[in-house]
Amino acid sequence: MQLSRRIPDDVKREVRQRCGFGCVRCGSLIFQYHHFDPPFNVATEHRASGITLLCGGCHDEATRGLLSPESVRKLNAEPFCLEESARHALDLAAPLYIVAGTMMFVGSGPLFTLGGRQLLELSAVDGRVLVNASFVDDLGNSLLQIHENELLVRRGAWDAQFRGPRLIVNRAPREVVLEMIVHPPHSIYFPQLALRFRDLQVRADSAGIEVTQGAKRSKIVSEGGVIVNGGGLELTRKNCRFGPGLAIIPYPASRFRSLVQTGALDTIFRDLYQPRIHVQDTSKGVPNWLITDDCGNTLGFAESRIRAIAKAERLAAAADARVVVNNDSDSISFMFDGVEIESPSMRISGLSQ
Ligand SMILES: [Zn+2]
Repeated sequence: MQLSRRIPDDVKREVRQRCGFGCVRCGSLIFQYHHFDPPFNVATEHRASGITLLCGGCHDEATRGLLSPESVRKLNAEPFCLEESARHALDLAAPLYIVAGTMMFVGSGPLFTLGGRQLLELSAVDGRVLVNASFVDDLGNSLLQIHENELLVRRGAWDAQFRGPRLIVNRAPREVVLEMIVHPPHSIYFPQLALRFRDLQVRADSAGIEVTQGAKRSKIVSEGGVIVNGGGLELTRKNCRFGPGLAIIPYPASRFRSLVQTGALDTIFRDLYQPRIHVQDTSKGVPNWLITDDCGNTLGFAESRIRAIAKAERLAAAADARVVVNNDSDSISFMFDGVEIESPSMRISGLSQ
């Protein structure tokens, strides 16, 4: 009777750990399980020591007989990832949207800087978009690096594997330290993410973003989608702030989650960049409210806030736009559990630069 194709999960995990989470020949993170001792057609059980990891190309060579059983045995004894990292080149192109928990980053620059060290960074070089990142566990062991769009999984992880487009890195059974869904070429979604430098830590998940500064732990972004353009999060022992030149826009968390799962981040972008109609209080004391569009064109006046909003809503409905109430035309700040985040400009013209 032929052996079932289904390899038990614990056997697979043992093989992954032994082989360093990549093809034993070339280190590819996208691998298959290859029975080599004995070969699958005569195997009577799924034994971890007789199974190795080969990527699609290397596996094909082995099954066609272009890669000898002796070589496979040798490669299995000294897997590529013993010395090097398991790897996968990400297929990315600008514009790139990166979502960490409930926060979406667009544009380029450092996304997370801890203790002066840029741990997740986006840059644009000659029209190419480059991602660099470093993820470590609680003890500071490197689990995953992204070096110029190449994913590098270190052996320090307890487990790491792609399931479809989703990379999951565990530090212990059922303890996921990193979850990353790649939607090439324009987006990467981290449903779970932890970044650490010394006693500074940032955790992002579906509940928001939490920072740890030594003994102090604070939630800086709770329920609710947020977009940041330009400045990323800078965390030091004393401070926690978002860098200059950014705009943060609350976004409905439920819609956000369903869209990031499918990679439709450009939909979020379009939602946010819809034309908006602004209502501003233009004079102190005198009830005089100004209604403008995104370009600053005056659309009308009203004598009270309520009337101004009602008028703006009517204009917005006709123009397929949204209403934003600006009490201060120069600056808007958001408070997230005591951490003040300032936005120098909420105007769309400022965002798209
Ligand atoms: Zn290979």
